Amino acid sequence: MRDVLIVGGGVSGLAAGIFTARAGLDTLVVDGGESILARNASLENYPGFPDGVDARLYLQLVREQAKSAGCEFELGLATSVEPIDDTDLEAGFRIETEGDGGNPLETRRVIAASWSDSEWLTPLDVGREQRGSKYVVSVDDGGRTAVDGVYAAGRIAGEPHQTIVAAGHGAKVGLAVIHDSDAAFYHDWVAPEGYFTGRGREVPPGCEEIDDEERLERDERARETMREWLAEPFDDEPTMHPSVETD
Ligand SMILES: Cc1cc2nc3c(=O)[nH]c(=O)nc-3n(C[C@H](O)[C@H](O)[C@H](O)COP(=O)(O)OP(=O)(O)OC[C@H]3O[C@@H](n4cnc5c(N)ncnc54)[C@H](O)[C@@H]3O)c2cc1C
Repeated sequence: MRDVLIVGGGVSGLAAGIFTARAGLDTLVVDGGESILARNASLENYPGFPDGVDARLYLQLVREQAKSAGCEFELGLATSVEPIDDTDLEAGFRIETEGDGGNPLETRRVIAASWSDSEWLTPLDVGREQRGSKYVVSVDDGGRTAVDGVYAAGRIAGEPHQTIVAAGHGAKVGLAVIHDSDAAFYHDWVAPEGYFTGRGREVPPGCEEIDDEERLERDERARETMREWLAEPFDDEPTMHPSVETD
């Protein structure tokens, strides 16, 4: 059984996974298609990219980051979810998928980050509400739904339709999942050597102190990775809205 299963490998789901996996929770991301961000022609309001960034490259970078954080991935569409034991939600959830992996999947906690589809959530009374052609799921401040152990992140949780907000909300939901689980956690921080220990404090759980040699090694690796990704234009075009005729 997984600690966390995230349905939806778009911006919010991946951001949640980066945090849960880095906190040591066994995290699986199930994704059955494309993030709506793949339709963007030039992502120009995501902090950290002064002249913008190719949205599909950005998505690939976030996926890579989730992988190096420890997330595992499975290609497939979630089709339904049910408690393993109706009388005890702590026993976790069983998720059916249409995909090539093991079926059904079992997990202690579920994060719904599948903006374009919440149909699979209908067996649970999470509190879905129709807005236009889509549904949003009611959540509290940490993305918790009305069903203990089930969370929602990003646009599906009614957050504004912007990438930075989806990413930030995913991170916030990931942190709520960590706090609700048994993982020992303070903040996910990398601090210079001595930052805590120099004051006679233990390095808090979730944090790390690194010395200068390690810092320079990580910096070199980070720059090399970005050089490789940015060396050539990203070879993938925006996806058009399905109702627009392109021929
Ligand atoms: C044309 C266009 C341009 C945009 N431009 C910008 C911009 O310039 N700046 C900006 O900030 N924002 C922009 N956005 C908005 C931005 O793309 C979204 O707000 C953001 O992607 C929402 O993130 P999310 O994680 O909630 O959903 P998504 O990124 O859509 O991720 C949802 C994921 O869930 C998966 N999924 C769905 N159903 C299932 C299922 N049943 N099982 C498994 N997986 C499933 C999907 O395949 C997808 O990967 C744009 C959107 C569009 C359409």
